[in-house]
Amino acid sequence: MAEPKENVLMEKIVSLCKRRGFIYQSSEIYGGINGFWDYGPLGAELKRNVKELWWNTMTRLRDDVVGLEATIIMAPAIWKASGHVDTFSDPMIDCKTCKGRFRADQTDEIACPQKPSKCVNECHGEKTAPRAFNLMFQTYVGPLQDDSAVAYLRPETAQAIFAQFKNVLETSRQKVPFGIAQVGKAFRNEVTPRNFTFRSREFEQMELEFFIKPDEVIEAISGSVATVPDPGHPGEPQPNWGWQAWHQYWVEERVAFYERIGLSRHTLGFHVQTPEELAHYARATTDILFKFPFSKRDGQGELKGEELEGIAARSDFDLSQHQRCSGKPMGVFDDELRTAWGKLPKEKQDDLWRRYCENRKKYLTKTGVTDEAATKQATEDANGLAKGQYIPHVIEPSAGVDRLILALLTNAYSDATKTDEKGKVETTVVLKFHPRVAPIKVGVMPLLKNKPELVTKAHEVRDLLRPWMNVFYDDGGSIGRRYARQDEAGTPFCLTIDFDTLGEKPELLNTVTLRHRDDGRQERLAIGDLLTWLLPKIR
Ligand code: ATP
Repeated sequence: MAEPKENVLMEKIVSLCKRRGFIYQSSEIYGGINGFWDYGPLGAELKRNVKELWWNTMTRLRDDVVGLEATIIMAPAIWKASGHVDTFSDPMIDCKTCKGRFRADQTDEIACPQKPSKCVNECHGEKTAPRAFNLMFQTYVGPLQDDSAVAYLRPETAQAIFAQFKNVLETSRQKVPFGIAQVGKAFRNEVTPRNFTFRSREFEQMELEFFIKPDEVIEAISGSVATVPDPGHPGEPQPNWGWQAWHQYWVEERVAFYERIGLSRHTLGFHVQTPEELAHYARATTDILFKFPFSKRDGQGELKGEELEGIAARSDFDLSQHQRCSGKPMGVFDDELRTAWGKLPKEKQDDLWRRYCENRKKYLTKTGVTDEAATKQATEDANGLAKGQYIPHVIEPSAGVDRLILALLTNAYSDATKTDEKGKVETTVVLKFHPRVAPIKVGVMPLLKNKPELVTKAHEVRDLLRPWMNVFYDDGGSIGRRYARQDEAGTPFCLTIDFDTLGEKPELLNTVTLRHRDDGRQERLAIGDLLTWLLPKIR
């Protein structure tokens, strides 16, 4: 039976990744280790570009976001407070016949080890009842390997941001609304790692926690909370934005980011979580999907897409949890609120007080606090409004680096098969990366490697560009071969230094041929103009 087209594409991508040094299986010489992947020379550059673009977009190009780089192992109490120790688990089932182990919610998609081409349901083996399997990797800190030394490799980067919220607030001169961004490794002992790097056990995340004022505070300061306009980008942030406008803003900002690096809107999909899917504390979550070849299809046969990033409006749950569990205050003082509150009519104060108090009580009751204690605490919290105090809410855009790399590779892949005069079939691959993410920006090539004048000039061009971008110098083989190698690596531009560069045609002295990857078009550019031509395209 023919392989489905999407599997063929995935196979081609996996094989190209290995052949060209994008992604290798971890520990391959020892047979590999399931769910772990290494990035080779081209993959490492691609990944670095993606993370740097994210970092620049989310922090350096904004006034209202700052960065953090926290440790992977943190106090285990953090994971208790966040809920990961008790609830970060997948339902796992075992097949008594084939001994396969599966996620209970994904059995229709997983290959049975005894009949790899069949799905588990066809195995017909008796399955165990689902058991909760915690996804956190455990380790021990210090020489003793007992319960008191248990620690976890972080399953997400976000919690460090909440735990360090007060330190950052106090040292960064930021005021709510503002965000804290972090890029780093996360670890999940996934029951069934699959689809190449899509579901790995070690991966990287790019997360932003954007702290905002609760809607009651906005109402106290601005009179009312902005209504969310029609779908689309709501524009520049406004002081009267509540959580809905901020949530929509971040969804659109993140889509704009994906478009800037070459993933057009039609390659993406959206999943708005239903009330049943939402975590109890979340107000809304929108997942941005990418139409991976292995995605499920909708009724019309169109790829639906798989999650690339989730953008969640998480209320004040996270900071509240850390306040409750650590005993350290996580609230902020807002002078604007205090002043505004004093000027509000009594009935408005009462209305806002009551709504804030109800929300706080709802949160406290959900965490298991008794009704009496919850009422007392919620009353205290609501009384804080008059003093300008509240616990910020948060919008969390959380993206996976590795899934994005896989999306970029899939999106860029294009191949063509040609048969030459002798009947030899040749397949050429072009990776059409956006220049911003391409691992190599420019290939620099002397026409001939045995002509010292050409080589010297080519070195000059390479050294001119190198401090600004990743350049690959290639003097081996025919120019056509060299172009093809760069096409396969996804290099958007190649520069050839030829005899005209040296002045054979005097009017072309100190110019080079610039060749475009996607259409093979060539143009002549002065060496002195190269940086001004290239830089805006790769940044
Ligand atoms: P999924 O439902 O696919 O397991 P999730 O909803 O658990 O993902 P989050 O906890 O929201 O994922 O993590 C944020 C992002 O981290 C995801 O959108 C994804 O890009 C990335 N991510 C999560 N788990 C993995 C994994 N096992 N391998 C690679 N990337 C991951």
